[in-house]
Amino acid sequence: MGSNVSKSLDSFNCRRTLTAGGSDYVYYDLVEAEKNGLTGIAQLPYSMKVLLENMLRFEDGVTVTPEDVQAIVGQLENPLRWAMMVRDPLTNWTQGRITLLGDAAHPTLPFLAQGAAMAIEDACVIARALERYADDPAFALQAYQATRIERTTRIVNGSAANTKRFHNPQLADPDVAARYVADEWQESKVRQRYEWLFSYEPENVPLAAPVAA
Ligand SMILES: Cc1cc2nc3c(=O)[nH]c(=O)nc-3n(C[C@H](O)[C@H](O)[C@H](O)COP(=O)(O)OP(=O)(O)OC[C@H]3O[C@@H](n4cnc5c(N)ncnc54)[C@H](O)[C@@H]3O)c2cc1C
Repeated sequence: MGSNVSKSLDSFNCRRTLTAGGSDYVYYDLVEAEKNGLTGIAQLPYSMKVLLENMLRFEDGVTVTPEDVQAIVGQLENPLRWAMMVRDPLTNWTQGRITLLGDAAHPTLPFLAQGAAMAIEDACVIARALERYADDPAFALQAYQATRIERTTRIVNGSAANTKRFHNPQLADPDVAARYVADEWQESKVRQRYEWLFSYEPENVPLAAPVAA
């Protein structure tokens, strides 16, 4: 995303620079691209918009041509959109010798990119609990849940909180956006928000005692 990645032919005249926190960030403005002839962008799903922005960024006329870019926009005849649902975290996943893990236990919005990470962490912790309490699987599953639920609840709630951060109306205006990004993504704020997330070790976290029902 740095300003050095700017060798695109920019056929749709949409290269822009955002200055935030003392750094310049080159990006390819899809609203401008649409105005400049790349029609149909608005109806694309976000995943395709991300791909499109990358193609605009690397449009060199050889490996990525203007026709390639057009083809991406024209690729979907009937684009489908689906809703992302916010659900309150569950307070219990376990009954006797049955439990849930992964998305079934803690469905989350994608704004911390942790759905698969949580499923893998669950798998690690549940394996440890079943090994430790091999003679009492129901107790092991309670220990697994007690070990995991506080963290997964924090992630689900943190991800929901990021909805407003990532889709904030202030990002629509480049000048306001620069101030907003510089403020929200200060190193100290980012550290405070995410240090706990990335320092977790599922293979070493102590197994918690089950909470009495
Ligand atoms: C576009 C996208 C981007 C993502 N990016 C990230 C990311 O960057 N980082 C991250 O951590 N997470 C990411 N995720 C989330 C991640 O993919 C999920 O959180 C993760 O796959 C959940 O794993 P799971 O095993 O719980 O469920 P799933 O992966 O959904 O697995 C459930 C499986 O059960 C099968 N199944 C369903 N019903 C039955 C049945 N009745 N009988 C037998 N089998 C059945 C399904 O076919 C499926 O294979 C992303 C998800 C999407 C959609």
